[in-house]
Amino acid sequence: MLSAEENDPRARRREQVRRAQRTHRDRKATYVRSLESEVTKLRASEAAHDAECQTFRQVIRRLRELIKYHNIPLPPDLASSPHVSSPQATVELVTLPDHSQTIRAQLPAPGFSTGDIFAGTSISDAPDQEPTPMAHPHGLWTAQTGVDFVLGLEQVCLEHHAVHSVDVEGTGHEMMLMSPIMSRSPPLQQTTEPGSGLPDGAVWSVPSVELERLLEFADRLRLDGEITPVEAWQAIRQHPSFPNLTREGLDSMKLMLLPEVKCYGFGALIDRAYFDTVMLQIMGPG
Ligand SMILES: [Zn+2]
Repeated sequence: MLSAEENDPRARRREQVRRAQRTHRDRKATYVRSLESEVTKLRASEAAHDAECQTFRQVIRRLRELIKYHNIPLPPDLASSPHVSSPQATVELVTLPDHSQTIRAQLPAPGFSTGDIFAGTSISDAPDQEPTPMAHPHGLWTAQTGVDFVLGLEQVCLEHHAVHSVDVEGTGHEMMLMSPIMSRSPPLQQTTEPGSGLPDGAVWSVPSVELERLLEFADRLRLDGEITPVEAWQAIRQHPSFPNLTREGLDSMKLMLLPEVKCYGFGALIDRAYFDTVMLQIMGPG
């Protein structure tokens, strides 16, 4: 009697595990295919960017020489920098009262763009400032809003992402906003404490352009039935009612989504149907 009761749940559990493994394999195959095609596209675009960077460096060098030649004072951030620095996001590892850790990334204040290297100079043909972000009545059309939203949902990966960041096969988390952040994180501490292994209060920086680009880019990764936090942010921004969305609305979406974010070893994912329900509830029909 007792052994029959024991046997049944075990068999059920085995079947559950088999099903989970099958699902995991299928998801992984889809993910790998998406990544392969992205890598091909990225290689081409990286080559183009390299060439472009080369040109920009030469132009900047010549302009700096020109500025020096005319005795125009440089703004302090440039004067102290050996090269033209790109704006950096400040990343901080925060330990919450329940001892769990979370990551915050603060983008540089708007207006601090590479165009600002000409601020305070009298060069009349300074390049056009970057276009101002599209206005949103509640101020949600900013990269910072997207970074906060996405990093909050990617939280599920923080601990294992930090641990796996030295894996030669990659972290499996390349499409995440957390990826460029973790690739620059300070060295891990040897610790028996639970957590990411990163020291509490650690602060480091990441070129903000990498975060902004990832926010725009990852919407091309199409997975069946699931979306990444970045894709969720894309979907929210493309929703016709996005201009009516308040910060409170966005926060409650995040709170509803958070328990449903899962990682199968290759990045944080949300069930698409569940996400659609949440979006419908908060934002109305799309
Ligand atoms: Zn993960």
